[in-house]
Amino acid sequence: MVIGAGAAGLRAAIEIAATGLHVIVAIKGRRGKCGATLTAGAEVDIDSASATSLLRLSGDLRDDASLFANDMLSVGEWINNVNLVDVHVAEAPQRAKELTDWGAKTFGLIHSPGHRYPRGVVFSGIGIVRALLKKTREFSDIEFAEEILVTDLIIDQGVIRGAVGLNFATGEVVNFWAKAVVIATGGCQSLYKFSDAPSELTGDGYGMAFRAGATFVDMEFIQFLICTMLYEPFTITPVQQLLYKGAWLLNSKNERFMKLYDTLNLEKSTRDVIARAIMSEVIQGRGTHNGCVYLSIEHLTESEINAIADVYRKGTFATSYAYDLAFFDRLKHEPIEVFPAAHYFCGGIEISNKCMTSVVGLFAAGEATGGTHGANRLAGNALSEALVQGRVAGSSAARFALDVSFEDLPRDTVSRLERKIDLIDSHRTTDQSPVQIRKLLNELSWRHLGVLRHKGGLQELLSFIDRATMQIQNLELRNRSHSYNQEWIEALQLPNLVLTAKIVSTTALFREESRGTHFRTDFPNKDERWHGCIRVLPTSREEMNLDFKPALTHSVVTSP
Ligand SMILES: Cc1cc2nc3c(=O)[nH]c(=O)nc-3n(C[C@H](O)[C@H](O)[C@H](O)COP(=O)(O)OP(=O)(O)OC[C@H]3O[C@@H](n4cnc5c(N)ncnc54)[C@H](O)[C@@H]3O)c2cc1C
Repeated sequence: MVIGAGAAGLRAAIEIAATGLHVIVAIKGRRGKCGATLTAGAEVDIDSASATSLLRLSGDLRDDASLFANDMLSVGEWINNVNLVDVHVAEAPQRAKELTDWGAKTFGLIHSPGHRYPRGVVFSGIGIVRALLKKTREFSDIEFAEEILVTDLIIDQGVIRGAVGLNFATGEVVNFWAKAVVIATGGCQSLYKFSDAPSELTGDGYGMAFRAGATFVDMEFIQFLICTMLYEPFTITPVQQLLYKGAWLLNSKNERFMKLYDTLNLEKSTRDVIARAIMSEVIQGRGTHNGCVYLSIEHLTESEINAIADVYRKGTFATSYAYDLAFFDRLKHEPIEVFPAAHYFCGGIEISNKCMTSVVGLFAAGEATGGTHGANRLAGNALSEALVQGRVAGSSAARFALDVSFEDLPRDTVSRLERKIDLIDSHRTTDQSPVQIRKLLNELSWRHLGVLRHKGGLQELLSFIDRATMQIQNLELRNRSHSYNQEWIEALQLPNLVLTAKIVSTTALFREESRGTHFRTDFPNKDERWHGCIRVLPTSREEMNLDFKPALTHSVVTSP
């Protein structure tokens, strides 16, 4: 069984089906219409020499897999899992090549900040998903279960047996019997009030893996990307690519403030530096009334502006937003407010280089995992990760499944998990609405678990999380409809949002330094005593133990 149908889930399903096994892909949305993959720009990183030799793009032959790995470690602050990095750089070129063999179109090669050579093969998110879906149609043994919110994994004596969930189209509680499960559920960007990712990313994979006993790593590292809000109600879209094309960031005094934060690279700095610069300007009173700064292209020449407009017309910037060209037309006439929105979870479920988790029979791939990126991720490296790990997880899960036989489902466990889902027929008497709790959680996470963090704020959030954990034991649904009941869906997602918030804030409070995307205003410097990873080990009753594991790698060559 594969849970999720973004790049990681689809690639895993293809690999499993290629061994002749039957695979069920359970998805919260509909195939080809869900997941962050679809919304991506979409830059897929491979080393520049392979981009030249395999894809005939004009890359740089001086690059190779080890230089690519070195840049990943450098941006990840040398705390990445080196085994995962090795698999990543070795397999990424083949994964990009097969995408083109399966029909995905490329739009060129770009050079993003943090990379010493151009490595971003530009596809479109839609193109990637379509190519993978087309490939799945070659296998009659891939079965899609759509509009299923998987809530929990079925574990029997420490071994995976399948999963339970809600078919939210019909209101049926369903269970799946599986010899091996791959979690490919993406991140938990919906923890935050502002995010550029699809709203269905509520950390369900983290929640179910944690309850099943899986360990986590690097959860305090979350990437925020410079975005703008297009139309009400919220449509938040990234504008980072415009900075690479020469756009400026200005504060409310019309000052080009990036010169204070990265004198060398200015607006072409890495995402974490830009996010922190914007928040610092806002906090020091140099932001707009809405807590933003301005993006401006007024200084560009007409031909430079026309060149950017051309890229928009070709549809390779955040392709899912049809409004983008209209946005650019507006930007031509006036500066537009921008701010950092939650974009990517660098940490996640801890895996081996075979994508095995600490639970027998449970595998994970893509953004749901942690370790590859360490404290920060290079631009364009999430899609490569999803494709590489999707294949590896699929292969490992298939090999595992071929070696075990089906056992009966543990009936008591399944009934207990099914009763947790059935909130409609359990008549409770509290007035706790899942929607209200979620709104408060989103607001407090935005304020205290965002770009800038400090002890007092994290403690306030953790107190709220403790109260919310109690309240969600007794949620009452006002809406008792069985079909597409949004309140019911919210009630089932909320425990995962709360649990993810607890893991992230506990690790963020524990790490008393600033490193990568994690910035503590009360500990603003990097401290070598923290040169390593925080692992989260679940104990019973959703409590957690933290374990600090020193990293073995240190910089041996100069950073790009
Ligand atoms: C706007 C935007 C632009 C980006 N641009 C780039 C880029 O150019 N290059 C790059 O490398 N990265 C980019 N990223 C990041 C990258 O897109 C993601 O990290 C990557 O696509 C994650 O793939 P995935 O398969 O792990 O998860 P996703 O693509 O997010 O898929 C998750 C899947 O899990 C399903 N799911 C979730 N919960 C459940 C549940 N409970 N039950 C059943 N199904 C569930 C979802 O429906 C979905 O199908 C971008 C991200 C965003 C938001």
